[in-house]
Amino acid sequence: MVELDYEEIKNIKLYAQKNNVPIMQDEGISFLTTFIIKNKIKSVLEIGTAIGYSAIMMALANPLLKITSVERDEKRYLEALNNVKKLNLEDRITLIFKDATDLTLDEKFDLVFLDAAKAQNTNFFKSFSRNLNDNGFIITDNLDFHGFVNQPESEIKSKNVRAIVRKIKEYIDFLEQNEAFETNFYKVGDGVSVSRKK
Ligand code: SAH
Ligand code: MG
Repeated sequence: MVELDYEEIKNIKLYAQKNNVPIMQDEGISFLTTFIIKNKIKSVLEIGTAIGYSAIMMALANPLLKITSVERDEKRYLEALNNVKKLNLEDRITLIFKDATDLTLDEKFDLVFLDAAKAQNTNFFKSFSRNLNDNGFIITDNLDFHGFVNQPESEIKSKNVRAIVRKIKEYIDFLEQNEAFETNFYKVGDGVSVSRKK
């Protein structure tokens, strides 16, 4: 695992905690950065930048990596711009302020990282799999959704959470049935899947 002790990184994590920005957990980040190194990933399309934390961690893991990342919340996008600048990663991290639903790109990437609205995973998977290189991967975060996905529905009080959980379960079925990809599920962080294009 890549250990990073930059003051800036600590500050980004602290900001996320204070402002309830749902950045990836340490275990998930460690999994993602190790994956990038092992598989010699050189380009990533990230859906859901938040404040740039995961993009920055991926960029620091591999000095050859280039990332394009999309965020629809303006405040977070601006915060991400600021953070990317602080770490001098502007030449390797391109940030786009847009709803990913309205985004079309011609470029191809080695990895698509889905970490935006959980109910949209299936749509995003379908649309952005067009942007994958041969043998490319799609990684999805939060498949456990804070443990709720493994809980009986009757125990989930919030109607909203129940709806998201239902969508995540549908997405997991979609991945399992998708013949064009081979998907493995990992119990790390908040639950991560890796889908490899066959
Ligand atoms: N990848 C980040 C965390 C992302 S949190 C990290 O680990 O550091 C999820 C983000 O996705 C939120 O900031 C939210 O605003 C954004 N998001 C949700 N739906 C989106 C959409 N349709 N298009 C773009 N961004 C979206
Ligand atoms: Mg996440």
